Amino acid sequence: MNIILLGPPGAGKGTQASRLEADRGMVQLSTGDMLRAAVKAGTPTGIKAKAVMEAGELVSDEIVSGIIGERLDMSDTAQGAIFDGYPRTAAQAASLDSLLEERGRKLDYVIELDVDEEALVERIVGRYTCAACGAGYHDTFLRPATAGVCDVCGSGDFRRRPDDNEVTVRTRMAEYRAKTAPILPIYERRGLVRRVDGMADIGRVTAAIAAVLDGQ
Ligand code: ADP
Ligand code: ADP
Ligand code: ZN
Repeated sequence: MNIILLGPPGAGKGTQASRLEADRGMVQLSTGDMLRAAVKAGTPTGIKAKAVMEAGELVSDEIVSGIIGERLDMSDTAQGAIFDGYPRTAAQAASLDSLLEERGRKLDYVIELDVDEEALVERIVGRYTCAACGAGYHDTFLRPATAGVCDVCGSGDFRRRPDDNEVTVRTRMAEYRAKTAPILPIYERRGLVRRVDGMADIGRVTAAIAAVLDGQ
């Protein structure tokens, strides 16, 4: 099964994708994570993407569709992929269709995380991750069981993203509204969209997504 998690920054795409990965053996494909890895490694893609990401604007369609195509060639994705943060434009949606078709795969669902924009700023500015294993946390909504210690790996090294600040998040939301939200009707026409209440507790959102995937 191949699904897209669609929603503005902070909607919970990454949180839910990693739960699906753990619960169902699907593979999370986050273009944001891939781009951050490229920036960190200083690859040509990373060098091009860095300033764009820091400004909260969108990296070019060619770059992101290129990295998704390369990732889909790795055999683990044949079990089922969760697209997290991709596609973000109509051009990327068209590329994804071709990339899947070329590999004899298809899209099963587009899960839209329905959220209240104002609440998202609080989610974004409180977000941090474990630097060692990538587990995601929040200052208020998802704290580690022991303060300062990652639940998953025990590391005490946490990181915040440079673009997770109030100014940049407004730009990212404007980008979402202008370029990403308009791709929903494309998928609605194909009968693929399932809307889930993204303002519910993390566990309830997970359950609602599971109900969709299990056809309930
Ligand atoms: P996205 O990948 O859509 O940008 P994340 O999954 O990283 O969003 O979530 C943003 C922040 O909000 C994280 O710190 C996460 O722990 C927290 N979060 C995610 N889902 C919820 C939820 N349903 N309720 C409260 N906080 C949430
Ligand atoms: P969030 O879900 O919190 O908005 P992501 O981690 O998905 O953040 O993306 C971070 C940044 O990486 C985006 O603001 C954008 O600059 C870039 N990016 C990620 N995915 C894409 C994409 N599919 N198309 C263009 N730019 C992207
Ligand atoms: Zn960890």
